[in-house]
Amino acid sequence: MKRGTLLIHNGHETDPATGALGVTLYQTSTFDQKAYFQTPAGEHPQPQEFDYARSGTPTRKALEEIIAELEGGEAGYAFSSGIAAVSSALGILSTRDHIIAAEDIYGGSYRMLNTFYKRWGLEVTAVDASDAENIKKAIKPNTKAVFLETPSNPLLKITDLKACIAVAKNAGLLTFVDNTFMTPHLQRPIELGADIVIHSATKFLGGHSDVISGLAVTATRELGKRLYAVQNGFGAVPGPWDVWLVIRGIKTLKVRLETQQASAQILSRHLLKHPKVAAEYYPGLEDHPGKKIHDGQSSGPGAVFSFKTKTTEQAVRFLGSVKLAAAAVSLGGVETIASYPVRMSHASIPPAERERLGITDTLIRISTGLEDPEDLIADFEEALK
Ligand SMILES: *Cc1c(COP(=O)(O)O)cnc(C)c1O
Repeated sequence: MKRGTLLIHNGHETDPATGALGVTLYQTSTFDQKAYFQTPAGEHPQPQEFDYARSGTPTRKALEEIIAELEGGEAGYAFSSGIAAVSSALGILSTRDHIIAAEDIYGGSYRMLNTFYKRWGLEVTAVDASDAENIKKAIKPNTKAVFLETPSNPLLKITDLKACIAVAKNAGLLTFVDNTFMTPHLQRPIELGADIVIHSATKFLGGHSDVISGLAVTATRELGKRLYAVQNGFGAVPGPWDVWLVIRGIKTLKVRLETQQASAQILSRHLLKHPKVAAEYYPGLEDHPGKKIHDGQSSGPGAVFSFKTKTTEQAVRFLGSVKLAAAAVSLGGVETIASYPVRMSHASIPPAERERLGITDTLIRISTGLEDPEDLIADFEEALK
């Protein structure tokens, strides 16, 4: 089946008990296990598949199987947020292990690694992963994993997944990839050799700015067991409504993402010519330095791009006057979102470090929604005026 079909026909299109279309929402914390205790003498009692909702529910299992299949992995796990998926995945590592992370990963992941996990004794080195050599140079005897995200946030830098994964595999390291910006519809890191793929399902997978959720997929069953031990033991699990909303969101991923991507291409090209726009960052633009590598590892540039205005005042005025875009954190929803990384997603990164990374106070990140691109162009023109 083609990928668009798989979003709908993935083994969970009907409820096996009733034939109802879609997945049943089980709002329960526990499961009656009386049958176990009623096993006739002489027969072996069979433990039930579900016993307690932190450990698993049929609704959550459906989402976990759907994302595992879409990413081409062996096992999927759902979490209460994207950051819970990141922290739980990192939870398979141990104190005194060393991890190499791309320096421009999601601000919250950066903060977690450099504050929380450092405090718990994980060694962290941040490198510019746009050159795989930098990863090689950072490897130490206790290095266990590499953490990547491509395109990066908010400057849309491209990491060569195959080259970085080859360096990691050579040294016996695990590779984690945050695939939030691309989704499995455009990019499947496990097919390129990654070990664990992570999502903020809050973004394109949920797709409607109405749920906080996270997912992780492992390439092997063995890694899956290790991640399950964290999911169940650490307990950052999602509630059934949130799981159900993500399952529903995924069904329309293809039409949403492809339409939003087309709008991002139109809008970013239009802004290129604008006198108040100083720079643009989008792998859909011909002169993007990572375009060739991006095109080789994904099937589209996605629906997120960034631009810099010439002055800070222009950026601030734009965010205050744009009408069709929310001036907000987040991305991937049906409504266009304009975010201001220095104040929002990357506020926790020290100013000097931000400046070095190019995250200036003139930088605006756009996630195009499903509005008509002509309306978006007119609105952006007006707001820039
Ligand atoms: C939003 C985001 C996260 C964190 O996800 P939450 O659902 O907000 O916890 C992680 N990685 C990326 C790339 C994100 O955009």
